[in-house]
Amino acid sequence: MTKMTRRTFGLLSGAATFSLALPTYLRAQDRPKVVVIGGGAGGATAARYIAKDSEGAVDVTLIEANPQYTTCFFSNLYLGGFRSFQSITHSYDVLASNFGISVVTGMADAIDREAREVVMADGSRVPYDRLVVSPGIDLIWDSVPGYSEEAAEIMPHSWKAGPQTRLLKEKLDAIENGQQIVMVAPPNPYRCPPGPYERVSMFAHILSSKGYTDAKIVVLDPKSKFSKQALFQEGWEKHYPGMVEWYGPDVHGGIKGVDPSTGSVETDFDTFKGDLVNVIPAQKAGEIAQKAGLANDTGFCPIDPESMRSTMDENIFVLGDACIAGDMPKSAFSANSQAKVAAMNVRGDLTESKVFPARYANTCWSLIATDDGVKVGAQYAPTEEKIASTTSFISQTGEDSALRKATYEESLGWYAGITSDIFGRQG
Ligand SMILES: Cc1cc2nc3c(=O)[nH]c(=O)nc-3n(C[C@H](O)[C@H](O)[C@H](O)COP(=O)(O)OP(=O)(O)OC[C@H]3O[C@@H](n4cnc5c(N)ncnc54)[C@H](O)[C@@H]3O)c2cc1C
Repeated sequence: MTKMTRRTFGLLSGAATFSLALPTYLRAQDRPKVVVIGGGAGGATAARYIAKDSEGAVDVTLIEANPQYTTCFFSNLYLGGFRSFQSITHSYDVLASNFGISVVTGMADAIDREAREVVMADGSRVPYDRLVVSPGIDLIWDSVPGYSEEAAEIMPHSWKAGPQTRLLKEKLDAIENGQQIVMVAPPNPYRCPPGPYERVSMFAHILSSKGYTDAKIVVLDPKSKFSKQALFQEGWEKHYPGMVEWYGPDVHGGIKGVDPSTGSVETDFDTFKGDLVNVIPAQKAGEIAQKAGLANDTGFCPIDPESMRSTMDENIFVLGDACIAGDMPKSAFSANSQAKVAAMNVRGDLTESKVFPARYANTCWSLIATDDGVKVGAQYAPTEEKIASTTSFISQTGEDSALRKATYEESLGWYAGITSDIFGRQG
């Protein structure tokens, strides 16, 4: 994309320009329109910040498939019995009532980029001046031969939160001593790099808290290493000795496929049978982004690192798991951070408000066992090529229990803070 400044872009695109002092009594049809597709960590944050900071000068519509949002983040803690399902489920009511956002519950089916309209599944059209696309991921079902949407009812992925999370919890709670859980871990890039291994920890926590010392968890990983590996492997040996077996490709030789009718996973080395099989397939940007031509051949959407603007369409911003965010991992923290940069640039386009240099941040906490929390994180800044890491930190092996407890408590504060930053303070 030819690089444009915000101002030249606004002029070239013919966008109406407004100042922040714009009176809020302007009729809705006179205000520039922002539509956001996807009410998750990225989209709902963007909608809230655009509405809040433009003080009524921008008309914001949020299109979300579901009436409520269950967070993938902390869904592992639900599996481990540390959180209720209700505590990880959030409503859009505050966004509508306190921030004047029009929340549309429904599926966006297509983006008519020429007409600048979102086409809904029912055929209705929602016009926009700027569009924010944050649809998360879609699963590439056939990346694991034998796996499918139907197979996921038997071998849940639980990589999109909601009914799949409950299904995995039911199956986990039904495991008995002497039985085996098999996880097929995902290849890079995927949402939440430490997520599969935190999940293994929560599986092990449930089994060991029931005294099931003969139960086993086998992880078949297409990757030869994984996020926070030393921390997780140290924790598994400390809290759940002998329970978790992790095999990379140099051991299993390649994952050949799954058979839901027998609960088995075939690899080059052996066939593993699971009383519970959790398959997390490869991932790509949500379907709507693919359909609209916003993704490249990686399956994800290239963006301008300074603004989160799509390199495929200057009127569109792509956030969160769907975008190619350089060194940033696909996480809710990242999506929330990117949303604020995008929101600032959207307002810059439409209201001429000041746009500051982009800065991004991420931290991913993981719980290994009760009060044993670890974290990894970084700060990021845009370069010509990508969003690049500037400084980073990670928990260390051998840390004392007081520090691990404090790290876990920090994650509780983060969850409370980020969910009110995304959805507005509830209740
Ligand atoms: C097990 C697990 C644990 C995790 N733990 C953490 C953690 O501890 N910390 C962390 O920061 N991140 C964590 N994550 C990652 C985090 O959940 C995601 O990175 C984050 O949700 C991405 O935000 P997003 O806005 O890109 O997508 P999402 O949050 O998935 O939101 C996308 C939304 O778009 C909607 N949508 C999609 N397509 C359409 C359409 N066509 N029309 C209308 N609506 C549509 C979907 O319904 C969805 O609500 C975890 C993920 C998993 C799976």
